[in-house]
Amino acid sequence: MNLILLGPPGAGKGTQAKMLIKRYGIPQISTGDILRAAVKEQTPMGVKAKAFMDAGALVPDEVVVGIVEERLQQQDCRGGYILDGFPRTVAQADSLSRTLQKNESDIDHVLALTVRSEELLSRITGRRTCRSCGAGYHLLFDPPKSPETCTECGGELYQRDDDREETIRRRLDVYQEQTAPLISYYAERNLLKTVDGMGEMAVIQANLVQIIESSRG
Ligand code: AMP
Repeated sequence: MNLILLGPPGAGKGTQAKMLIKRYGIPQISTGDILRAAVKEQTPMGVKAKAFMDAGALVPDEVVVGIVEERLQQQDCRGGYILDGFPRTVAQADSLSRTLQKNESDIDHVLALTVRSEELLSRITGRRTCRSCGAGYHLLFDPPKSPETCTECGGELYQRDDDREETIRRRLDVYQEQTAPLISYYAERNLLKTVDGMGEMAVIQANLVQIIESSRG
């Protein structure tokens, strides 16, 4: 089962992907996570990507397309995968479609999470991540016991550089300009399912699962 999670920054794609991978035992492929790891390790790709990410801009298509092509060839993707944060442009979607055609594979569902734009900013500014174990929190919706310390492992919590307010505004504009056209792109290909991304995480998850299950027969 091959899924794409689509939606603006802060829609809850990462959270929902993590719940889906537990349920279905397939990997989450987050281009954002892969890029952040490359930045941290200061690989040539990471060094190049950092400037785009810090500015809230998209990393060039050829870079992310290369990342995903390589990742999809790995053994753990044989039984399916969840793409989180990719594709983000029509060119990336076209390229993914060509790659899948070559492999005689296809996307089963594009699950689009919708959230009112006023809500997105407050959602993103509250996000915190643990430096040690990578656990994710939200200061309002999923708070750690102490605001600066990971409840799981005691590690230090930090805010992603690109989760600061000025950068978020730019990322939301970039989403509208470059990624939102993928909604009609996938609707035209009869792959799009829209799910309300407002409300309880568990309810949103149940709605996603229902869509997936209803098509599995
Ligand atoms: P995310 O964690 O998905 O919000 O991604 C964080 C940042 O990584 C984005 O703001 C972009 O700069 C970059 N990025 C992640 N995925 C892509 C993609 N598919 N295309 C271009 N840039 C990306």
